[in-house]
Amino acid sequence: MNSEEFRAAAHRLVDWIADYRASTEVLPVRAEVPPGWVKQRLPAEPPQEPESLDAVFADLEATVVPGLTHWQHPRFFGYFPSNGELASVLGDFLSTGLGVLGLSWASSPALSELEEVACDWLRQMLGLSERWSGVIQDTASTSTLVALLCARERASSFALARGGLQEHAAPLIVYCSAHAHSSVEKAALLAGFGREHLRRIDCDASYALRPDALAEAIREDLSAGRRPCAVVATTGTTATTACDPLDAIAEVIESHGLWLHVDAALAGSAMILPECRSLWHGIERADSLVVNPHKWLGVAFDCSTYYVRDPQHLVRVLGTSPSYLQSAADDKVRNYRDWGIPLGRRFRALKLWWLIREQGVLGLQERLRRDLANARWLAEQVRATPPWRLLAPVPLQTLCLRHEPPGLEGEALDRHTLSWCERINASGQAYLTPAQLDGRWMVRVSIGALLTEHRHVSDLWQLLRNRTYGARANSSG
Ligand code: PLP
Repeated sequence: MNSEEFRAAAHRLVDWIADYRASTEVLPVRAEVPPGWVKQRLPAEPPQEPESLDAVFADLEATVVPGLTHWQHPRFFGYFPSNGELASVLGDFLSTGLGVLGLSWASSPALSELEEVACDWLRQMLGLSERWSGVIQDTASTSTLVALLCARERASSFALARGGLQEHAAPLIVYCSAHAHSSVEKAALLAGFGREHLRRIDCDASYALRPDALAEAIREDLSAGRRPCAVVATTGTTATTACDPLDAIAEVIESHGLWLHVDAALAGSAMILPECRSLWHGIERADSLVVNPHKWLGVAFDCSTYYVRDPQHLVRVLGTSPSYLQSAADDKVRNYRDWGIPLGRRFRALKLWWLIREQGVLGLQERLRRDLANARWLAEQVRATPPWRLLAPVPLQTLCLRHEPPGLEGEALDRHTLSWCERINASGQAYLTPAQLDGRWMVRVSIGALLTEHRHVSDLWQLLRNRTYGARANSSG
């Protein structure tokens, strides 16, 4: 493809994306295809001869789009939002178009320095002190893995330079709440701690980690000769958006020297609102934290910002300096390859930078406040309408709810919950994700897609009531 062919194709693609975004509302939110449908429509073997742009666009329309669940749809209430503001889509496109790689500062100075600036803008927006330095990783899973590697090395006085974890008989222990994301367990396993050395600490009635239970677990491990190493606290858990009490956790662990990593993958975006910052009170006492601007904030996936208090420690754990990557500038600049796992890095900062410039801090704040107000409104409706029940506090934009007709309990209630949720998802009118809480199914309503206005939340409330009442009528014959 030469530049002129690219110009024509790209214009057509940009038009296509603009039309897609403008018309998502009329599409069914969830993909309606059965397993295997997409694969079966695609040739098993690659084309031998070049194919036309028309043929590619035809398959896009006929095969790819029907196989999509539309995350940018205004009635997408599943998982957590993964917003891709169009300004950040431009940044992502530009990154690919430029085709530069950040192997070192010298390999593309603008890539490194713009990342440094964009991370620092975001730091200020989140109300974090100047003691934090940021880097962009692909996902929170990677950021948490990096945090646990750093914690491990601090606790073992850099065992990686000697015999690694294998040189110690006394195991290192990681603590997190029973509601921590699965990526925490994965990170602990990948970092070599072993499942037996990951402690899931009990939560209180609001699903936040109990500092007294943490203190007790640390005491037990110490008295058994084990070595407490790190706590991963969550600001905004995946099931309920509960916020672990960071200050109290820091109080418990400070004298033991544990690493405190904060997973604020979703809720971190809310910290651009000063009124939400009490939710992570104590954050300045953490060693590292992760916020995913690719969730609620609006940066097109993937963009996970990882902040540390001690960048020298990070570089000591992850740094490499083969001769072919060295440059005369190394002692004056950041080489971000030493701040994460992969060597090559994309110019991801462009999409964060473009988003912040196009929206301004005020624009981003306004949208997040809209979502919080919509969540508060829906929570009020649910509270006022038995047998609907809210199962957890609503500190942010996600509601955990259940419809509990009198006499329906246990597995019968689970079946009822899963069936009305599936009915809504199958209708294409909205998309919700069920999850288990205290061993029973409930349904999460996660508000915050870019296009979700009050009317969409109000329509959802109507839909919820219609669907469940319809089901009860059917099931009672
Ligand atoms: N942490 C929390 C609290 C999450 O909710 C999620 C995903 O929803 C993750 C971590 C994992 O995020 P990522 O997909 O960026 O690894």
